[in-house]
Amino acid sequence: MTLDRDAFFIDGDWVAPASGDTIQVVSPHTEQVVATVPEGSTADIDAAVAAARRAFDEGPWPRMSPEERIGIVQSFSNLYAGKLGEMAEVISTEMGSPLSFSNLAQAPAPWMQIEAFLGIARAYPWEESRTGVLGTEVLVRREPVGVVAAIPPWNVPQFTIMSKLVPALLAGCTVVVKPAPETPLDPYLMAELLQEAGVPHGVVNIVAGGREVGEHLVSHPGVDKVAFTGSTAAGRKIAAVCGQQLKRVSLELGGKSAAIVLDDADLAATMEGLKFTALMNSGQACVAQTRILASRSNYANVVDALAETVSAMQVGDPLDPATEIGPMVAQRQQERVEKYIALGQEEGARVVVGGNGMPDGLSSGWYVRPTVFADVDNRMRIAQEEIFGPVLSVIAFDDVDDAVRIANDSEYGLAGTVWTGDVDAGLDVARRVRTGTYGVNTYTMDFAAPFGGFKSSGVGREFGPEGLAHYTELKSIYQP
Ligand code: NAD
Repeated sequence: MTLDRDAFFIDGDWVAPASGDTIQVVSPHTEQVVATVPEGSTADIDAAVAAARRAFDEGPWPRMSPEERIGIVQSFSNLYAGKLGEMAEVISTEMGSPLSFSNLAQAPAPWMQIEAFLGIARAYPWEESRTGVLGTEVLVRREPVGVVAAIPPWNVPQFTIMSKLVPALLAGCTVVVKPAPETPLDPYLMAELLQEAGVPHGVVNIVAGGREVGEHLVSHPGVDKVAFTGSTAAGRKIAAVCGQQLKRVSLELGGKSAAIVLDDADLAATMEGLKFTALMNSGQACVAQTRILASRSNYANVVDALAETVSAMQVGDPLDPATEIGPMVAQRQQERVEKYIALGQEEGARVVVGGNGMPDGLSSGWYVRPTVFADVDNRMRIAQEEIFGPVLSVIAFDDVDDAVRIANDSEYGLAGTVWTGDVDAGLDVARRVRTGTYGVNTYTMDFAAPFGGFKSSGVGREFGPEGLAHYTELKSIYQP
């Protein structure tokens, strides 16, 4: 089956692109082209925004009852549930996520999000009556915010589209999605399901492209709200444009999260947990806990256990179900990670496992060797900057206060974990670390609860009723 495409999904139809530019999707494992798709131009974005604008200003979607919209999104969810295997394979093919991770998270988690948002929408106070201070009735409505520009990154493409698309749809918004150029394939499968579910024309429009078309979409006067997931650098630029135009904006940005290993932690269970929380998606995860904090007295034990765990992980072909760490998404990402590995050595950190060069048994593909650094000082750049690859830094702390201080000594504030035999002590640490999400002996996102970042990790929250609220405008209607 070919993955090639020659059209965009605009106004409920497959529309020829305005230019002849194409994106070649290259397998990070084989370095061969796996598909060719059109590359969006500003003219394609204009057509997509015009369709979304028409559907919002004149179409049925914002005027339907929440129940009617819930019915159509439920049909989409049911269809999506039947395509999880195909979706997982498409994502692994285009961006190299190990199939084990795609089957666990890349495909099922977006579907779980749809179901969670459906439950939230069913109980949501779309319209409530309040008795005002003068004893008269006030009708408080939650109306759709308008045309939404949804801009996801490549690392968890469906996950970051769904966290925007589904609450926007349920609220009555219309949407233009601009997928990243590395992952233009999965949205085609999603578009077919939206079409089959009966989402009206123009409600969802999809144009993949690079930064320039993203900038054009963000500043487009037809867009009312921007929902962005990506790097902190791009988030700052987008926030500036939205600030100038007084557009609503929510930003899910980078992270440099810490896992604190307390002395009473079960080390074997902690290592099992860290395999996921530190190295999921080959380390290309915003929530990856790549700073591992261990007490001075337990430091050598943690470094040894981590070295043993990481060196036993299977690196290779993402489509092999046994693979735990796949290639980096692109050659430039491979080079970026390698630069950080070299930088760590220059800064005086000690490579315990890994280092630069291809992993054993691999001669092509954009691979790096999973790397553990010991003797890392938290002020080093490898401990402060987001590397976005399988590179871990083990940092020593004096006591729990010092561990909390180090965890908080970061421009980011997205996630974190504490590993301990004493759950109450863990909760105490969790309350003191300034991040939007935190785990005690686990890190599992729960779509019933808000997700997002403190500090430079973002503005706003996704998931939960809080994630739906970003797609609504509040209106108060006074009555005599
Ligand atoms: P990126 O910022 O380069 O790109 C993200 C998306 O924005 C892409 O679609 C890109 O084309 C587009 N884009 C880039 N600059 C833009 C601009 N000025 N205006 C409009 N659109 C623009 O990020 P990336 O390399 O694709 O993704 C990795 C980053 O995403 C990491 O920093 C990671 O931490 C972050 N991320 C955060 C979360 C979260 O929920 N907080 C989740 C996943 C990834």
